[in-house]
Amino acid sequence: MDYADFLKNQDSRAGGYYALSDLIWEKAEICYTEVESARILEDWFSKEGFSVTPGVYGIPTAFTAQYGSGSPRIGLLGEFDALSSMTQEADVFEKKPGAQVNGHGCGHNLLGVGSLVAAGAVKEFLAQTGKPGTVIYYGCPAEENGSGKAFMARAGAFKDLDAALTWHPGTLNRIATESSLANILVKFYFHGISSHAAGSPELGRSALDAVELMNVGTNYLREHMIDEARIHYAVTNTGGVSPNVVQAEASVVYMIRAPEMAQVQELYQRVIRIAEGAALMTGTAADHRIIKTCSNFLSNRVLEELLQESFEALPLPDINAADREYAARFSATCPQAPSLILKSIADKYPSRSGGIFLKNHLEDTFYNFIVPYDKDRLDKSGKGSTDVGDVSWLCPTAQFSAATWAAGTPGHSWQVVAQGKGRIAHAMTLYAGKILARAAMRLFSEEALRAAAREEFTEQMRGRCYFPVPAEAKPEAITAL
Ligand SMILES: [Zn+2]
Ligand SMILES: [Zn+2]
Repeated sequence: MDYADFLKNQDSRAGGYYALSDLIWEKAEICYTEVESARILEDWFSKEGFSVTPGVYGIPTAFTAQYGSGSPRIGLLGEFDALSSMTQEADVFEKKPGAQVNGHGCGHNLLGVGSLVAAGAVKEFLAQTGKPGTVIYYGCPAEENGSGKAFMARAGAFKDLDAALTWHPGTLNRIATESSLANILVKFYFHGISSHAAGSPELGRSALDAVELMNVGTNYLREHMIDEARIHYAVTNTGGVSPNVVQAEASVVYMIRAPEMAQVQELYQRVIRIAEGAALMTGTAADHRIIKTCSNFLSNRVLEELLQESFEALPLPDINAADREYAARFSATCPQAPSLILKSIADKYPSRSGGIFLKNHLEDTFYNFIVPYDKDRLDKSGKGSTDVGDVSWLCPTAQFSAATWAAGTPGHSWQVVAQGKGRIAHAMTLYAGKILARAAMRLFSEEALRAAAREEFTEQMRGRCYFPVPAEAKPEAITAL
């Protein structure tokens, strides 16, 4: 039986998949509160005969759904968390509040369902071919601000996999060859003494002053750190709203990012010293607590090539005139001209032919093509962070993006939420599921592929060590900081 047969079966089930994705879009639950979204997916897997474990790895909204037994073990990663306050109506071409407070501004309603499509197809494949092995869908909560996968990893997930595959909604069909930044999210607390700010200021010690001095000190640190590092902060407690009180308690949360966790750790120690300095200057006391960490992404080229082969083997969905019009209208609302964004990708493309290929599409408002894969390309310039990074330190891992949105659509934008139930988003989610499924089926069938991916992984990990989330950190919603 051909791989294509198992993929074709998914077409007849497309309506059911789209309904799941739309339902999760409507729930729009954020960071570790994804109770209903997780249940929607868990219920589907239970009905399909997967063995489902809810609340796995000590996280109530994390789950696994597995089918089959023994080796090889192939993991598919699914996400379903939304972003805070991103309320938006679907399918309107302007920023317009919707019924939900939060919104799927990163497209994780699609992400979770695309990987579910793949798991369903692989289950049929294992059942009908009788091949040995286990497919495991990881229901991963809190990708945004919670690094759910890093906490799952700390509790033992992923390390027994032969490979992990995933995808992310986006504007281009391409392999994610770029790395991402490792980071630490840490909260600093300052404790001072309250006093009347006019009557007895000499008796007060201001925790808010300490926060301000810490931020100033960090500004000076920025000149003396590696270019690729980033340090951001948000003041989470200013000590109150009364200017006539010396603020006794204040806090600030820092995100420290760099290409590798060892570099983040070094900066983290320097930031701690700055906090101590700010406390000394203000006569306050400082302490801190790590909220979460996440590792940089190490892509596996053997798996990248496998995903690219899937892209090339499977025809793109039909995009009709109405879809094109829909995409063009969204594209027109984007803050940066799509042609400039694509041109900057094309300019960085190492092979001349790849760059020329992309430049032929500068005027498109929907990218209905597969970006050529360049074997020599390993872009280390990724500036974001993803908790898929932690998975990639534990087993061979690769991911791709699929064009679910109009050209120029920025991440975490109202345009993403608005397009999240559209015909294009649906069709491309089904397509992404098929790409993952084909790659996973080949991994079950071809031992040599698994061995090559493992060999590359082992080589990549030589001299490196994984930094799990420190024991004191607990999975928690950012709102509870
Ligand atoms: Zn995001
Ligand atoms: Zn995302």
